[in-house]
Amino acid sequence: MVITIDGAAGVGKTTTAKSLASKLGYQYLDTGAMYRAVTYFFRQHSIDINSESQVRKMLDILNLEIDFTSNNSITILLDDKDVSSLIRSKEITNAVSEVSALQPVREKIVKIQKDITENGNFVIEGRDIGTVLYPGAKYKFFLIADYDTRAERRLKDFKRLNEELNVNKIKQDLIDRDQYDSSRKLSPLKQASDAIVIDTSNCTFDDQVNQIYKHIERN
Ligand code: C5P
Repeated sequence: MVITIDGAAGVGKTTTAKSLASKLGYQYLDTGAMYRAVTYFFRQHSIDINSESQVRKMLDILNLEIDFTSNNSITILLDDKDVSSLIRSKEITNAVSEVSALQPVREKIVKIQKDITENGNFVIEGRDIGTVLYPGAKYKFFLIADYDTRAERRLKDFKRLNEELNVNKIKQDLIDRDQYDSSRKLSPLKQASDAIVIDTSNCTFDDQVNQIYKHIERN
C-alpha cells in the first residue's frame, strides 16, 4: 500500500512523511532527493542539460541507489558514495527544477520509483506522486503553507548545512521554484483532485501528522 504526500518545498512533507511512515511501520521515500541526486550527478560531470544526447548518455550510466536500512531515514548513494547531504546544497536546490523538468530524467526516475515501491508499504513524498506515480492510491494528501512559514523552515534547513542565506532571498527562490515546478509541461506540481489538503502554516508538527494519521485510521 502507498500513501502519497505532495506539495511544494518547505510545506513540511519530509518531516510529516517520515513520522507517518514510522507510526504505520511503512518505508518512507523522498522522491525529491532522487531528482537532486541526478542534478548533482549532471553537475559533477558538467553536463549540458540542453543536449538531450548528453542527458540520455549520462542517465544510461547513472548508478543511483537508495539505502533503506538506517532507522527512519534514507541514504542516497551515487556510485556507492553517500551524497545525502551534498544534494541539499543551495547550488543543487537552485538547479534541480530545470533538471527534473526533462523528459528522459522523469522517465528514468519514475521507473526507479515504481520498481522500489511497487510491492511494499510506502509513504512517498514529492510533487507528482498522487497525480502521476500513484493516481489510484487510496490515501493522498497535499500539503500547503504560506511563504513566510516555508521560508523560515528552509532557513533552518540551510543553517544546518552552514549555508549563508537571507530569508527574503529564500522566499523569492521558493516562489521561483514553485512557478517553475507548477508550470512545467511534464508532471507539474499539482494537487490531485481527490487529495486531502492540509495547511501546515499554523500547525504544530504533531498536529499535522495526527490529522493525516487520524484520517487513515478512520477510513
Ligand atoms: O522535495 P524537494 O524540494 O527536495 O524537491 C526538489 C525538486 O525536485 C523539486 O523542486 C522539483 O523540481 C523536483 N521534484 C519533482 N517531482 C517529485 C519530487 C521532486 O519534480 N516527485
